[in-house]
Amino acid sequence: MADTLLVIHTIDEMRREVAAARSRGLTVGFVPTMGALHAGHAALVRQAVEECGFVVVSIFVNPLQFGPNEDYERYPRTLDQDVALLREVGAHVVFAPSVNEMYPRPQLTFVEVEKVTEGLCGASRPGHFRGVATVVTKLFNIVTPDVAYFGQKDAQQAAVIRTMVRDLSMPVEIRVCPTVREEDGLAVSSRNTYLSPEERKAATVLYRALGHGKALIESGERDAARVRGAMRELIESEPLARVDYCEVVDAESLAPVSYIEGNVLLAVAAYFGSTRLIDNMAVEA
Ligand code: AMP
Repeated sequence: MADTLLVIHTIDEMRREVAAARSRGLTVGFVPTMGALHAGHAALVRQAVEECGFVVVSIFVNPLQFGPNEDYERYPRTLDQDVALLREVGAHVVFAPSVNEMYPRPQLTFVEVEKVTEGLCGASRPGHFRGVATVVTKLFNIVTPDVAYFGQKDAQQAAVIRTMVRDLSMPVEIRVCPTVREEDGLAVSSRNTYLSPEERKAATVLYRALGHGKALIESGERDAARVRGAMRELIESEPLARVDYCEVVDAESLAPVSYIEGNVLLAVAAYFGSTRLIDNMAVEA
């Protein structure tokens, strides 16, 4: 456990602390988050603490990545609890800037990643990944991490960041950590707190659908349309679920496949009431 956890709100102070850590020869690890921290975030931070001498966790609900009718306003903000969790897992700095600190003037510069942003959440949430790529670039420029940690839970986000880092020669190593799940398989998410008890029960259908798709592929099914159809049918059998997308895509390019071979990603998104949840599972055919 780190004996001190610094909570920093300004870019200047963040830069000073990173410079001090670097001058002590420490490797800088970085975990960007939107807060409302849970076991999934904790796993990323633990991994960072294992591998890096100085670990920064950012907490910033980034308005740029939310659409006009999305949950920016009601997104849970729980800084005190988040700080307590981060102290426990041994992070060194919490970087929690205000919106005004990050965007003091209207933002005129954006980072746009093509292709991998076209399908899945990119299709349902126009502008989302542009907001993500822009804020992550800004955070990388402030924190200057050697290694940055992302969750497989947001597989498309991880692919976008990997692509951006490669295409723009950013000097940072990207690590993607496995999805942390509840006992019944539901992927842990800050948005799970929106669910009513009935919706919470219904939401396990996503994991069951992914497991069903995986089992079909493992038993020899190679027709992606059949796997997609079977997963969709299972989700639609749950009255509280409304499918947003249900896809079989190439694990690298995230382009939809018709014949399943090599590494694919099963990816689903569905609404439970007004709450939109996503999940995915990698399968090797
Ligand atoms: P968020 O605060 O939701 O933007 O997530 C911050 C980081 O935590 C992202 O890299 C997510 O992919 C990751 N993350 C969120 N939920 C999980 C989970 N259940 N397991 C692993 N990583 C997660």
